Amino acid sequence: MSRSLDQNLLLSVFRLCVWLVLLTVIFVPLERLFALHPQKMFRKAIVTDVAYYFLSSLIPGFLLGAPIALLAWLVHHAIPVAFTSAVRAWPTWLQIAVGFVVGDIGAYWGHRWTHEIPFLWRFHAIHHSAEHVDFMVSTRAHPVDMVFTHFCGLIPLYVLGLAAPSGGASLVAILFLLLGTVWGFFIHANVRWRFGPLERLISTPAFHHWHHTNDGPAYVNKNYATFLPWVDRLFGTLYLPKDRQPAHYGIDEPLPANFLGQLVGPFLTSRVSADLQPAATGLTSAVDSSEQQISRAATQAVDHEYTAK
Ligand SMILES: [Zn+2]
Ligand SMILES: [Zn+2]
Repeated sequence: MSRSLDQNLLLSVFRLCVWLVLLTVIFVPLERLFALHPQKMFRKAIVTDVAYYFLSSLIPGFLLGAPIALLAWLVHHAIPVAFTSAVRAWPTWLQIAVGFVVGDIGAYWGHRWTHEIPFLWRFHAIHHSAEHVDFMVSTRAHPVDMVFTHFCGLIPLYVLGLAAPSGGASLVAILFLLLGTVWGFFIHANVRWRFGPLERLISTPAFHHWHHTNDGPAYVNKNYATFLPWVDRLFGTLYLPKDRQPAHYGIDEPLPANFLGQLVGPFLTSRVSADLQPAATGLTSAVDSSEQQISRAATQAVDHEYTAK
Protein backbone atom coordinates (compact mmCIF):
# COMPACT_ATOMS: atom_id res chain seq x y z
CA MET A 1 0.00 0.00 0.00
CA SER A 2 2.68 2.47 1.11
CA ARG A 3 4.89 1.17 -1.68
CA SER A 4 2.29 2.09 -4.29
CA LEU A 5 1.93 5.49 -2.57
CA ASP A 6 5.68 6.01 -2.87
CA GLN A 7 5.58 4.98 -6.52
CA ASN A 8 2.69 7.38 -7.22
CA LEU A 9 4.55 10.20 -5.51
CA LEU A 10 7.72 9.46 -7.46
CA LEU A 11 5.72 9.36 -10.70
CA SER A 12 4.08 12.71 -9.88
CA VAL A 13 7.46 14.29 -9.10
CA PHE A 14 8.85 12.93 -12.36
CA ARG A 15 5.88 14.34 -14.30
CA LEU A 16 6.35 17.70 -12.62
CA CYS A 17 10.04 17.71 -13.55
CA VAL A 18 9.11 17.09 -17.19
CA TRP A 19 6.53 19.90 -17.07
CA LEU A 20 9.06 22.24 -15.46
CA VAL A 21 11.53 21.57 -18.28
CA LEU A 22 8.78 22.15 -20.85
CA LEU A 23 7.66 25.40 -19.21
CA THR A 24 11.26 26.59 -19.03
CA VAL A 25 11.86 25.78 -22.69
CA ILE A 26 8.72 27.72 -23.67
CA PHE A 27 8.83 30.73 -21.39
CA VAL A 28 12.50 31.51 -20.83
CA PRO A 29 13.21 32.34 -24.51
CA LEU A 30 9.95 34.34 -24.74
CA GLU A 31 10.83 36.30 -21.62
CA ARG A 32 14.28 36.98 -23.07
CA LEU A 33 13.01 38.10 -26.48
CA PHE A 34 9.96 40.08 -25.37
CA ALA A 35 10.86 41.09 -21.81
CA LEU A 36 8.68 43.69 -20.15
CA HIS A 37 11.33 44.27 -17.49
CA PRO A 38 14.96 43.20 -17.82
CA GLN A 39 15.58 40.52 -15.22
CA LYS A 40 17.63 37.42 -14.70
CA MET A 41 16.31 33.91 -15.01
CA PHE A 42 18.12 32.89 -11.83
CA ARG A 43 16.76 35.81 -9.86
CA LYS A 44 16.53 36.09 -6.11
CA ALA A 45 13.84 33.72 -4.81
CA ILE A 46 13.85 31.40 -7.84
CA VAL A 47 14.75 28.46 -5.58
CA THR A 48 11.78 29.30 -3.36
CA ASP A 49 9.52 29.48 -6.40
CA VAL A 50 10.71 26.08 -7.63
CA ALA A 51 9.95 24.68 -4.17
CA TYR A 52 6.46 26.22 -4.42
CA TYR A 53 6.07 24.71 -7.88
CA PHE A 54 6.36 21.20 -6.47
CA LEU A 55 4.42 21.91 -3.30
CA SER A 56 1.50 23.70 -4.96
CA SER A 57 1.23 20.94 -7.56
CA LEU A 58 1.23 18.07 -5.08
CA ILE A 59 -0.48 19.30 -1.93
CA PRO A 60 -3.74 21.08 -2.92
CA GLY A 61 -5.12 17.90 -4.49
CA PHE A 62 -4.90 16.19 -1.09
CA LEU A 63 -6.13 19.22 0.86
CA LEU A 64 -9.08 19.80 -1.46
CA GLY A 65 -10.42 16.27 -0.93
CA ALA A 66 -12.31 16.86 2.34
CA PRO A 67 -13.93 20.25 1.51
CA ILE A 68 -14.93 18.98 -1.94
CA ALA A 69 -16.55 15.88 -0.42
CA LEU A 70 -18.47 18.13 2.00
CA LEU A 71 -19.51 20.46 -0.84
CA ALA A 72 -20.69 17.53 -2.95
CA TRP A 73 -22.71 16.20 -0.02
CA LEU A 74 -24.32 19.62 0.62
CA VAL A 75 -25.16 20.11 -3.06
CA HIS A 76 -26.59 16.59 -3.27
CA HIS A 77 -28.99 17.41 -0.42
CA ALA A 78 -29.76 21.05 -1.30
CA ILE A 79 -30.06 21.17 -5.10
CA PRO A 80 -32.87 19.25 -6.84
CA VAL A 81 -31.52 16.44 -9.00
CA ALA A 82 -33.88 17.56 -11.79
CA PHE A 83 -32.01 20.89 -11.96
CA THR A 84 -28.49 19.44 -12.14
CA SER A 85 -29.65 16.77 -14.59
CA ALA A 86 -31.13 19.46 -16.86
CA VAL A 87 -27.82 21.36 -16.84
CA ARG A 88 -25.89 18.18 -17.62
CA ALA A 89 -28.17 17.63 -20.60
CA TRP A 90 -26.85 20.82 -22.22
CA PRO A 91 -24.42 20.43 -25.13
CA THR A 92 -20.82 20.02 -23.94
CA TRP A 93 -19.70 23.36 -25.41
CA LEU A 94 -22.44 25.17 -23.46
CA GLN A 95 -21.52 23.39 -20.22
CA ILE A 96 -17.88 24.40 -20.72
CA ALA A 97 -18.75 28.03 -21.57
CA VAL A 98 -21.14 28.45 -18.62
CA GLY A 99 -18.75 26.54 -16.35
CA PHE A 100 -15.88 28.91 -17.14
CA VAL A 101 -18.04 32.00 -16.52
CA VAL A 102 -19.51 30.87 -13.19
CA GLY A 103 -16.21 29.27 -12.13
CA ASP A 104 -14.34 32.48 -12.83
CA ILE A 105 -16.91 34.49 -10.88
CA GLY A 106 -16.44 32.11 -7.93
CA ALA A 107 -12.64 32.32 -8.22
CA TYR A 108 -12.89 36.13 -8.56
CA TRP A 109 -14.65 36.41 -5.20
CA GLY A 110 -12.35 33.87 -3.59
CA HIS A 111 -9.34 35.85 -4.77
CA ARG A 112 -10.91 39.17 -3.77
CA TRP A 113 -11.66 37.86 -0.26
CA THR A 114 -8.01 36.85 0.11
CA HIS A 115 -7.24 40.55 -0.33
CA GLU A 116 -10.09 41.89 1.79
CA ILE A 117 -10.09 39.51 4.76
CA PRO A 118 -6.91 39.99 6.84
CA PHE A 119 -6.67 36.34 7.92
CA LEU A 120 -6.76 35.17 4.28
CA TRP A 121 -4.38 37.94 3.21
CA ARG A 122 -1.70 36.48 5.50
CA PHE A 123 -1.58 33.47 3.16
CA HIS A 124 -2.13 35.32 -0.12
CA ALA A 125 0.54 37.95 0.70
CA ILE A 126 3.14 35.31 -0.18
CA HIS A 127 2.00 35.34 -3.80
CA HIS A 128 2.23 39.13 -3.86
CA SER A 129 5.66 39.24 -2.23
CA ALA A 130 7.32 38.66 -5.63
CA GLU A 131 9.29 41.77 -6.59
CA HIS A 132 10.07 40.32 -10.01
CA VAL A 133 7.12 38.79 -11.82
CA ASP A 134 7.70 36.03 -14.36
CA PHE A 135 6.04 32.72 -15.24
CA MET A 136 7.42 30.96 -12.16
CA VAL A 137 5.64 33.39 -9.82
CA SER A 138 2.42 31.66 -10.82
CA THR A 139 3.38 28.79 -8.52
CA ARG A 140 4.28 30.97 -5.55
CA ALA A 141 1.21 30.37 -3.42
CA HIS A 142 0.66 29.04 0.07
CA PRO A 143 -1.30 25.75 -0.11
CA VAL A 144 -4.08 27.25 2.06
CA ASP A 145 -4.39 30.19 -0.35
CA MET A 146 -4.44 27.93 -3.39
CA VAL A 147 -6.98 25.51 -1.91
CA PHE A 148 -9.29 28.35 -0.82
CA THR A 149 -9.36 30.07 -4.23
CA HIS A 150 -9.76 26.77 -6.11
CA PHE A 151 -12.57 25.79 -3.77
CA CYS A 152 -14.40 29.10 -4.38
CA GLY A 153 -14.06 28.55 -8.14
CA LEU A 154 -15.48 25.03 -7.84
CA ILE A 155 -18.52 25.92 -5.70
CA PRO A 156 -20.64 27.29 -8.61
CA LEU A 157 -19.65 24.33 -10.75
CA TYR A 158 -20.90 21.89 -8.12
CA VAL A 159 -24.09 23.89 -7.58
CA LEU A 160 -24.85 23.72 -11.30
CA GLY A 161 -24.00 20.05 -11.47
CA LEU A 162 -20.99 20.68 -13.72
CA ALA A 163 -18.65 18.88 -11.32
CA ALA A 164 -18.83 15.70 -9.30
CA PRO A 165 -16.43 13.97 -6.89
CA SER A 166 -15.85 11.30 -9.53
CA GLY A 167 -17.06 10.22 -12.93
CA GLY A 168 -17.61 11.89 -16.29
CA ALA A 169 -19.53 14.88 -14.92
CA SER A 170 -16.23 16.47 -13.89
CA LEU A 171 -14.97 17.31 -17.38
CA VAL A 172 -15.78 21.02 -16.96
CA ALA A 173 -14.18 21.18 -13.49
CA ILE A 174 -11.03 19.40 -14.70
CA LEU A 175 -10.75 21.72 -17.71
CA PHE A 176 -11.33 24.76 -15.49
CA LEU A 177 -8.58 23.80 -13.04
CA LEU A 178 -6.15 22.56 -15.68
CA LEU A 179 -6.51 25.53 -18.00
CA GLY A 180 -6.38 27.85 -14.98
CA THR A 181 -2.96 26.41 -14.09
CA VAL A 182 -1.62 26.70 -17.64
CA TRP A 183 -3.09 30.18 -18.07
CA GLY A 184 -1.55 31.18 -14.74
CA PHE A 185 1.95 30.66 -16.15
CA PHE A 186 1.08 32.76 -19.20
CA ILE A 187 -0.43 35.74 -17.37
CA HIS A 188 2.55 35.96 -15.02
CA ALA A 189 5.09 35.85 -17.86
CA ASN A 190 7.45 38.80 -18.07
CA VAL A 191 6.45 39.76 -21.60
CA ARG A 192 5.44 43.15 -22.94
CA TRP A 193 2.82 41.86 -25.37
CA ARG A 194 -0.47 43.73 -25.69
CA PHE A 195 -3.54 42.26 -27.38
CA GLY A 196 -5.74 45.28 -28.15
CA PRO A 197 -9.51 44.77 -27.68
CA LEU A 198 -8.95 41.08 -26.88
CA GLU A 199 -7.60 42.17 -23.48
CA ARG A 200 -11.15 43.10 -22.46
CA LEU A 201 -12.34 39.55 -23.10
CA ILE A 202 -9.56 37.31 -21.83
CA SER A 203 -6.88 37.86 -19.20
CA THR A 204 -3.35 38.64 -20.40
CA PRO A 205 0.04 39.31 -18.82
CA ALA A 206 -0.68 43.08 -18.77
CA PHE A 207 -3.97 42.46 -16.96
CA HIS A 208 -2.43 40.29 -14.26
CA HIS A 209 0.80 42.27 -13.91
CA TRP A 210 -1.33 45.22 -12.79
CA HIS A 211 -2.73 42.92 -10.10
CA HIS A 212 0.82 42.57 -8.75
CA THR A 213 1.81 46.22 -8.93
CA ASN A 214 3.21 48.14 -6.00
CA ASP A 215 3.13 51.46 -7.85
CA GLY A 216 0.89 53.10 -5.26
CA PRO A 217 -2.37 52.69 -3.34
CA ALA A 218 -4.48 53.80 -6.31
CA TYR A 219 -3.44 50.72 -8.27
CA VAL A 220 -3.67 47.87 -5.75
CA ASN A 221 -6.63 45.48 -5.33
CA LYS A 222 -7.43 45.36 -9.05
CA ASN A 223 -7.86 42.62 -11.67
CA TYR A 224 -8.79 39.58 -9.60
CA ALA A 225 -10.20 37.36 -12.36
CA THR A 226 -8.35 34.33 -13.66
CA PHE A 227 -9.72 34.31 -17.21
CA LEU A 228 -12.30 37.03 -17.75
CA PRO A 229 -11.41 40.71 -17.23
CA TRP A 230 -15.03 41.71 -17.75
CA VAL A 231 -15.84 40.00 -14.45
CA ASP A 232 -13.60 42.65 -12.84
CA ARG A 233 -15.37 45.30 -14.83
CA LEU A 234 -18.73 43.95 -13.63
CA PHE A 235 -17.65 44.24 -9.99
CA GLY A 236 -15.77 47.54 -10.36
CA THR A 237 -12.15 46.37 -10.01
CA LEU A 238 -10.81 46.48 -13.57
CA TYR A 239 -7.69 48.52 -14.24
CA LEU A 240 -6.10 48.07 -17.64
CA PRO A 241 -4.60 51.17 -19.28
CA LYS A 242 -3.85 50.80 -22.98
CA ASP A 243 -0.42 52.40 -23.00
CA ARG A 244 1.07 51.75 -19.57
CA GLN A 245 2.57 48.82 -17.73
CA PRO A 246 3.37 48.60 -14.01
CA ALA A 247 6.86 49.66 -12.94
CA HIS A 248 7.13 48.00 -9.52
CA TYR A 249 5.84 44.81 -7.96
CA GLY A 250 5.62 43.34 -4.49
CA ILE A 251 4.35 44.46 -1.12
CA ASP A 252 5.82 46.65 1.59
CA GLU A 253 5.21 44.35 4.54
CA PRO A 254 8.12 42.08 5.46
CA LEU A 255 7.75 38.33 4.98
CA PRO A 256 10.15 35.53 5.88
CA ALA A 257 12.65 35.09 3.05
CA ASN A 258 12.86 31.33 3.41
CA PHE A 259 10.36 28.77 2.20
CA LEU A 260 9.63 27.14 5.56
CA GLY A 261 9.16 30.49 7.27
CA GLN A 262 6.62 31.52 4.62
CA LEU A 263 4.69 28.28 5.04
CA VAL A 264 4.48 28.48 8.82
CA GLY A 265 4.38 32.29 9.22
CA PRO A 266 0.71 32.89 8.29
CA PHE A 267 -0.43 30.53 11.06
CA LEU A 268 1.62 32.41 13.66
CA THR A 269 1.49 36.10 12.78
CA SER A 270 -1.34 38.31 13.87
CA ARG A 271 0.03 41.46 12.31
CA VAL A 272 -1.25 42.56 8.93
CA SER A 273 0.37 45.47 7.19
CA ALA A 274 -1.66 48.66 7.35
CA ASP A 275 -0.72 49.87 3.86
CA LEU A 276 -2.03 46.83 2.03
CA GLN A 277 -4.47 45.71 4.65
CA PRO A 278 -7.60 44.91 2.76
CA ALA A 279 -9.67 46.97 5.21
CA ALA A 280 -8.94 49.75 2.73
CA THR A 281 -11.62 48.21 0.55
CA GLY A 282 -14.19 48.69 3.28
CA LEU A 283 -15.00 45.10 4.22
CA THR A 284 -13.31 44.97 7.59
CA SER A 285 -13.39 48.57 8.70
CA ALA A 286 -16.00 51.23 8.78
CA VAL A 287 -13.36 53.87 9.38
CA ASP A 288 -12.59 55.68 6.17
CA SER A 289 -9.46 57.75 6.50
CA SER A 290 -8.92 60.78 4.33
CA GLU A 291 -5.92 59.05 2.80
CA GLN A 292 -8.12 56.17 1.70
CA GLN A 293 -10.69 58.59 0.31
CA ILE A 294 -8.00 60.32 -1.74
CA SER A 295 -6.68 56.95 -2.91
CA ARG A 296 -10.15 55.78 -3.89
CA ALA A 297 -10.91 59.03 -5.71
CA ALA A 298 -7.64 58.68 -7.64
CA THR A 299 -8.49 55.09 -8.52
CA GLN A 300 -11.96 56.01 -9.70
CA ALA A 301 -10.58 58.84 -11.83
CA VAL A 302 -8.04 56.52 -13.39
CA ASP A 303 -10.64 53.78 -13.88
CA HIS A 304 -12.97 56.17 -15.55
CA GLU A 305 -10.21 57.27 -17.87
CA TYR A 306 -9.23 53.78 -18.91
CA THR A 307 -12.23 51.53 -18.54
CA ALA A 308 -15.06 53.66 -19.80
CA LYS A 309 -13.73 53.47 -23.34
ZN1 LIG B 1 -3.96 38.64 -5.43
ZN1 LIG C 1 -0.40 36.43 -9.63
